Amino acid sequence: MTNPSGGFDVAIIGLGAMGSMAALELARRGQRVIGFDRFHPPHPFGSSHGKSRIIREAYFEHPQYVPLVRRAYERWNALEQDSGETLLVPTGGLMIGPPDGTLVSGARQSAIVHQLPYEELPAPEVRRRFPVFQLEAHEVGLLEPRAGVLFPEAAIGAALRLARGAGAELHFGERAIEWLGGSSILVRTERGDYHADQVVVAAGAWMGTGIARASLALQVARQPLHWFSPVGDPAPTAPRRMPVFIWEWEPGGMFYGFPDFGDGVKVAIHHQGEPAHPDTVNRVVMAEEVERLREVMKARTPALNGELRDSSVCLYTNTPDEDFLVDRSPADPRVILASPCSGHGFKFAPAIGEILADLVQGRPPRFDLSPFRIDRAGLRG
Ligand SMILES: Cc1cc2nc3c(=O)[nH]c(=O)nc-3n(C[C@H](O)[C@H](O)[C@H](O)COP(=O)(O)OP(=O)(O)OC[C@H]3O[C@@H](n4cnc5c(N)ncnc54)[C@H](O)[C@@H]3O)c2cc1C
Repeated sequence: MTNPSGGFDVAIIGLGAMGSMAALELARRGQRVIGFDRFHPPHPFGSSHGKSRIIREAYFEHPQYVPLVRRAYERWNALEQDSGETLLVPTGGLMIGPPDGTLVSGARQSAIVHQLPYEELPAPEVRRRFPVFQLEAHEVGLLEPRAGVLFPEAAIGAALRLARGAGAELHFGERAIEWLGGSSILVRTERGDYHADQVVVAAGAWMGTGIARASLALQVARQPLHWFSPVGDPAPTAPRRMPVFIWEWEPGGMFYGFPDFGDGVKVAIHHQGEPAHPDTVNRVVMAEEVERLREVMKARTPALNGELRDSSVCLYTNTPDEDFLVDRSPADPRVILASPCSGHGFKFAPAIGEILADLVQGRPPRFDLSPFRIDRAGLRG
């Protein structure tokens, strides 16, 4: 569906987490949407694979994210209803670490500022309630009830299916090469030229490769993740018994995990991944990487440290301050850049889709987007 001038209202480059939700929101609002993805989403080459993502509300990174995640919960529920699929399973979330560490104190701060329900449990109480977590005496667990698990591949698949149903034209396996400003924006792909009044670039780990037409200080990091069989009785690792968790085991060093949804418990280290390029990244997980994680898990989560069932490599796209990028392009204000999510963006995807649709339609933003501006300190490379 093109507009009277023969072009589209909006072209979306990248149909992963952010692009798929933007496509759905814009198509629903009657915009003529064309979207491109270099692969066939949902796919395992970007940042949105690996079967599960944590959603949590007592946001240790900063209280500014809480209103955004609250809106995301509403939109996830709506997407579940519209798609008829289960996309979010509440499990509760446990933030473990020293009470004054980055993780626990940050989560507590968000909970206090936004009056979120939470419990701060001493180590013996955590061990009693959740025997898979063997805290040291100086550690505590901050339990937040609304945290849970999202299913990323299912969510992206659902959004794209619904977007198509609402009229979006989606081209998979078609890489966008460049965009050029004129009376409309020309998007040149491997297969042809397309015109649109506006463009959303949501290219994830490829944002720094030229398609954004902005010099950005982004770092793509290779993040291995692993599925293990529980050791002994699997009952305490069931989703109804085991919350998702993040554990700050050394200052700033965190690992996280999920209960067993049938493939084993998934556990990974947050950040600390090697710098990588999305086109050449080594996608094979090495034995040393598994051993490194096992070493961290050994005394803390021995019941999760069983047989390795699978591993995968995923990509974080990190900004220097680990906040997001959602802003208009300095090269052309009709182009909106949205993606680098520094390893914590998935939970917000439907809320960001809504923000992107508002920006495209020139509506006032419903959230303070200043932390995500392109001209903030350090982001322009
Ligand atoms: C291991 C791991 C664990 C994570 N855990 C969590 C978590 O628990 N909770 C959470 O909230 N977040 C988490 N995240 C972060 C979250 O998954 C990402 O922030 C989010 O998925 C990024 O979405 P995106 O749309 O920016 O990128 P993607 O979903 O990767 O989409 C980008 C798309 O752009 C396409 N593309 C790129 N270049 C082009 C081009 N030139 N032409 C056409 N298409 C193009 C790609 O093929 C891709 O499909 C995690 C990330 C990883 C890697």
